[in-house]
Amino acid sequence: MRLPHDSSWTIRKLFKLREEVQPLIKYVIGNGNTTFLWLDNWHAAGPLYNLFGEDIVHNVGSSLLAKVSSIIQNGDWHWPRQRNRAIMQIMRSTPATLRPYIAVEDSVTWLPAPNGIFSVKTAWEALRNPLPKVPRAHVVWLKQGIPRWAFIMWLVCWGRLSTKDRLLSWGMRVDPLCVFCHNVHESHEHLFFHCSFSACIWGRILFLFGMSRSPGEWEQEIHWAVQHLKKKGFSSALYKLALAGTVYYVWKARNDSIFSNKQYIPEIIFEQIVMDVRDRVFSWRNCGCSPVNRILCRAWNISEKIL
Ligand SMILES: [Zn+2]
Repeated sequence: MRLPHDSSWTIRKLFKLREEVQPLIKYVIGNGNTTFLWLDNWHAAGPLYNLFGEDIVHNVGSSLLAKVSSIIQNGDWHWPRQRNRAIMQIMRSTPATLRPYIAVEDSVTWLPAPNGIFSVKTAWEALRNPLPKVPRAHVVWLKQGIPRWAFIMWLVCWGRLSTKDRLLSWGMRVDPLCVFCHNVHESHEHLFFHCSFSACIWGRILFLFGMSRSPGEWEQEIHWAVQHLKKKGFSSALYKLALAGTVYYVWKARNDSIFSNKQYIPEIIFEQIVMDVRDRVFSWRNCGCSPVNRILCRAWNISEKIL
């Protein structure tokens, strides 16, 4: 949605605020009668209009003001024209836990408040303190990296993965326990790397960097990376790549466990990360022939020809 170019300063400010507020309002689907299918923030991926633009609305013969109820039939999802690539993407990214409940009306949750009810105080705090994550960009977006790993890293940095604690706060009915340890409620903080499963993987990766410390919580790990990986260079790029790979594969193992009933052991995930990192680094060139870089190549079993 665009503003006319001659809009006043106040209107522009209000419009900007609207963009910041929209992600904080979550629509919990019941029968879908009052929630806008394309415009409201009800899907796990956010407002679908923001992701796909107006084209998708016309391509599937829908209306911009269609309600979610238009894609519900017999109590289940009934997406239009399933061969449309965007629709297939939406279907794939719809969590199995996101389902209509036709017996109840839709409801709205204000995410900044623990009880989901809007208050001026929580709104002020949420908008006054937008997540200060911009300095993390250099850790996430690596030129020689793997885009799908970076994307998941970015979502973790913003706390935007659909972890079970968030699904519960949106009113969805899910088993709250972590799929790996079955011991603690699943959240971003627990998955990265409070959980014994992911801590084991990240601990082994750290060991390849010559660090024998225990993995810290996410905020500590990302803080360390932000502080220590400012300079460009082989060791810094390798660390960023390995961190993104670990985050990506932990999240993938979690999804495989929930949606495909697959079980992994940390060693298998660790081996996969090392293999993928090695494959990616294979194409890097002129990385700098220092003693530290040579030690890293040996630890990761990477050919020293790249130095
Ligand atoms: Zn766990």
